[in-house]
Amino acid sequence: MNKAPVIAVSRHRMKTDGDGVTTLVCFHGCPLRCKWCINPFSFDENTKKNMLSPAELYQKTKIDSLYFLATGGGVTFGGGEPLLYADFLKEFRQECGNEWHLCAETSLNVPAENVIKAAECIDVFYVDCKDTNPEIYLSYTGKDNALMLENLRMLINAVGSGRIVVRLPLIPEYNTEEDRQKSKKLLTRMGVTRFDLFDYKIKERK
Ligand code: SF4
Repeated sequence: MNKAPVIAVSRHRMKTDGDGVTTLVCFHGCPLRCKWCINPFSFDENTKKNMLSPAELYQKTKIDSLYFLATGGGVTFGGGEPLLYADFLKEFRQECGNEWHLCAETSLNVPAENVIKAAECIDVFYVDCKDTNPEIYLSYTGKDNALMLENLRMLINAVGSGRIVVRLPLIPEYNTEEDRQKSKKLLTRMGVTRFDLFDYKIKERK
């Protein structure tokens, strides 16, 4: 049976992870190691994981179905990296049907085949791009960003730019407003139309 490691299920979120009322489901596992990671539990092997099948997760989340349907909300998958579990996401869509709004918060730094599968079942993608400059991305995440950019091109072709929001953070000690505007320009040329620009607040974590 297709099970995935779930580390948190957070109900009744309003407008933080998508439209309407949402339930955030966080998976364990992430290919990146961001210096100011927002959720280091997602790759700590000591984190308590709950191995769930799509049907089991549906049983846990369906309690809020009426809220989802009334507000245009649904389930947002985060982590960690939810696209590591693309088969699970597809099966979850079969469980919940087409009326729930499903979102994914992803770095897109995963195999292309996972992105293709997710494109078939996710309504809106929040792509945490970090920065398009390969050196900045490498020093901040420990990984190359070529795969992320390639996957983003493919995703735009597959689902259209209206279903993709690209997050561009200002990352203290790693990029500047000028870097961010360069990223925005390049991404706009690639066809991205929806951006979320914000600043990382890291003081309390230092
Ligand atoms: S992609 Fe997210 S979960 Fe993964 S290391 Fe970066 S901030 Fe942490």
